[in-house]
Amino acid sequence: MHEVHIAIVGSGPSGLYVADALARKCSLARIDLIDRLPTPFGLLRGGVAPDHQGTKNIARQLERVLNRENVRFLGNVEIGRVASYAELKALYDIVVVTIGALDDRRMDIPGEDLDGVYGSGVFVAWYNGLPKARDLDPRLDGASLAIVGNGNVALDIARLLGKSAEELATSDLCVHAREMLALASFSDIWLFGRRGPLEAGFTAAELAELGQLERVAILVDAGQIPSRIPAELSGERGKLVEKNLEVLRGYATRGEQPEKPIRLHFLFNAAPVALLGEGRVRKLRLERTRIENGRCVMTGETEEIPVDTVISAIGYRATPFPGLPFDQQRGIVANQQGRVEPGVYASGWCKRGPQGVIPANRTDSLAVAEMILADLGQVQEFCKPGGKELDRLLVQRGVRVVDYSGWQKINAAEVALGVAGGMPREKFTRVEEMLAAACADGAGEWRGIVE
Ligand code: NAP
Repeated sequence: MHEVHIAIVGSGPSGLYVADALARKCSLARIDLIDRLPTPFGLLRGGVAPDHQGTKNIARQLERVLNRENVRFLGNVEIGRVASYAELKALYDIVVVTIGALDDRRMDIPGEDLDGVYGSGVFVAWYNGLPKARDLDPRLDGASLAIVGNGNVALDIARLLGKSAEELATSDLCVHAREMLALASFSDIWLFGRRGPLEAGFTAAELAELGQLERVAILVDAGQIPSRIPAELSGERGKLVEKNLEVLRGYATRGEQPEKPIRLHFLFNAAPVALLGEGRVRKLRLERTRIENGRCVMTGETEEIPVDTVISAIGYRATPFPGLPFDQQRGIVANQQGRVEPGVYASGWCKRGPQGVIPANRTDSLAVAEMILADLGQVQEFCKPGGKELDRLLVQRGVRVVDYSGWQKINAAEVALGVAGGMPREKFTRVEEMLAAACADGAGEWRGIVE
């Protein structure tokens, strides 16, 4: 039997879980995990909050996948730029797209393009040191900052902004973000949910973490918290909401805590409808809502809140490379249960939309891998040339591929830098720095795997 050549585009958790399952269950599989960055782990490195080091430790298990005999890591290879999707399909028997969903959804309200307004995707990428957002330099110099959305991303951002330098000391928050946060001057953070506490997407553990912050007083209007959950909210969702309400009630009865320099205001049933200002955002106009059958209904009652910075945390869209079938309306790769077109599959956030934590994506990826294995069983012969041909192409095009050993050098250098400063790691935030670290032993340019 011939080897089966498989390309997985995107080395975040979803891609790594697909690779793991295929590598374990198909001895003929030769898997290339391709990433546009010289570093693996996708959202685990660039999205998970830098103070959630417990979650980041999943990288240790995922690292084992990169070390498998029939898996190669090809970092610094952007499909759609240095090689096309069509070329990939011509070279590999199977292509799996696990590119996540990284582009911010827009609020589509007037004033969204004012200075001081950011999407959570770019803001989180900035503090997590992704090269594309390294130079964002967000405006954190005002008194009042708004976060739009009631999901865990909104809470991550509120917590990061609320933490003191001491509380951030054990995180791997990048130094450029530490420096800017140390100079930040806001005293009010507003969290806007267009629906109410019963509909919020955040979870109790993340909500409760906010209550531990030494500098932050949490202000919740007790009148906005339902005294009990409706009968129709039962099962797992009911339990989750009950826990959220419990934490919120605790905050509502806690009082003002005037000794704390930052106030975090939860505003429910408040839909942002416009951002106002000359050049820079200065006010957020909200419209009060009520909920009918779970849906948000505008009441016509508006209010303006002074804000100097706005971060919208309202979800993401995937970014397709040219030729990839794409569902523009949902912002995901067009697929049927993970099937994109013959020989092409998708998994993770780019398949389902930006929902669910890492274990949910693992489940999804295992299901997609099973489907691929079942489909492979129907194929008589595999005839595509695979990674050797891609290597040849990339060498021809002068691409500096970072392989697994290159990543190990980057990793070691980052950890060493971090330890020197008392942190888990200090990330490189520029591609050139990563490439320099990947070649740090004097071996010079990466030489490729061309035989
Ligand atoms: P999310 O949970 O879907 O929250 C998005 C929020 O944006 C919702 O409150 C939504 O309100 C609101 N929204 C959407 N469009 C809006 C608009 N036009 N105007 C105002 N508000 C709008 O998504 P997320 O926070 O981005 O998180 C993504 C996934 O990652 C979730 O599964 C989350 O649990 C997970 N995550 C987990 C952690 C953790 O476990 N620590 C951390 C971060 C992320 P509606 O509900 O009314 O639509």
